[in-house]
Amino acid sequence: MASGGLEPEVARSGKPAGLPGRVVRRISNVYWVAADAGPEFACQLRARLRKEQVEVRIGDRVGLAEVDAINATAAIAEVLPRTRTLARPPIANVDQILVVFAAAQPDFSPPLLDRFLVLAGCSDIPAAIVINKADLVPAATLAAIVEPYRAIGYQVAATSARNGDVAELAALLPGKVSVFAGPSGVGKSSLLNRFDPALALKAADVSAKLGRGRHTTTSASLYPVGGGFVADTPGYSHLAFPALDPEGLAWLYPELAPHASDCRLSDCLHDSEPDCAVKARAAVNPERYQSYLKFLHELVEQRRTSRARSQKVEAAVKTTGGPGGGKRLVRIDAEQRVDSRRTVKQRLAELATQRAEGTLDEERLAGFED
Ligand code: GDP
Ligand code: ZN
Repeated sequence: MASGGLEPEVARSGKPAGLPGRVVRRISNVYWVAADAGPEFACQLRARLRKEQVEVRIGDRVGLAEVDAINATAAIAEVLPRTRTLARPPIANVDQILVVFAAAQPDFSPPLLDRFLVLAGCSDIPAAIVINKADLVPAATLAAIVEPYRAIGYQVAATSARNGDVAELAALLPGKVSVFAGPSGVGKSSLLNRFDPALALKAADVSAKLGRGRHTTTSASLYPVGGGFVADTPGYSHLAFPALDPEGLAWLYPELAPHASDCRLSDCLHDSEPDCAVKARAAVNPERYQSYLKFLHELVEQRRTSRARSQKVEAAVKTTGGPGGGKRLVRIDAEQRVDSRRTVKQRLAELATQRAEGTLDEERLAGFED
């Protein structure tokens, strides 16, 4: 194709002007950039980028200028196009989500793991699995946890942070930006600690200091770990599905997706429809299919309630519109209502993102009432 849209972009994303690096941390207006060559620099944004209101995220690839090697300072002169931005926490260029679970303590829960995998799938970022605390269960139990997920194509690393047995995790890290997700208590910090004992301390130190300063803002950080970077925050603070169509769920199950287009009905939900190619395969891994059905019903219910809610708004508007008041007017009114609801929602979403990014101006927020 003659379209030149892709080429320059690829060229740009490969090589910034100036010293190449990655934004790993931010405190107020200072960005810490890990240069590809090694050292970290404390950086300001170039005035031009500030004027253009260029947004810089943790994980961004940048080009540095005005490099002062003695004081370890520089200026961010260019921000490269980003890929795969994770919304929560906001981190750019994430290569993989590592879903960490424990083999025991807490009990291994397949449906909960599947929920994290589906959530990771929604973000369009590849997921791999880490089963930690391998030391707490017999080898056969560990295999019974790990093998079904390997069989459907996931990479699974079995680890024991306690025994220092982290080789399978180490193999997943080089050259990648990873985000740890998973329930608390499974050993995420212990694993990081195994790679670099200084990390856990640093993370605790930074958050303790920043927690106090009202005017200091912070965000997620990336730590250099095992030849790549790992984010220190769990990927998900709550486990509700985003607005995902029930029809899309099967595509997030790698073992079901290849069969989803073979069903008789084109809008098959693979529940109790006739001639369902997906259900025909359900016996291969009944637990996975059970979690599929559970989430499916959740999503169907979610869609039902959100439709009912918007119908209610419309009905209320219609009755207050009065009889013979002109359908046209009523319709406009209904649309405006929906619009203003949407605006408030957007505003709240914006605030939530800013808060997560640490760019939220708390003082302005105090004046925001709705
Ligand atoms: P996080 O909440 O996921 O960061 O979990 P932590 O790293 O705080 O670990 C929770 C608890 O599990 C701590 O008491 C750890 O000592 C313990 N733990 C972590 N990894 C292992 C492991 O591999 N084996 C065992 N037996 N315990 C572990
Ligand atoms: Zn089907």
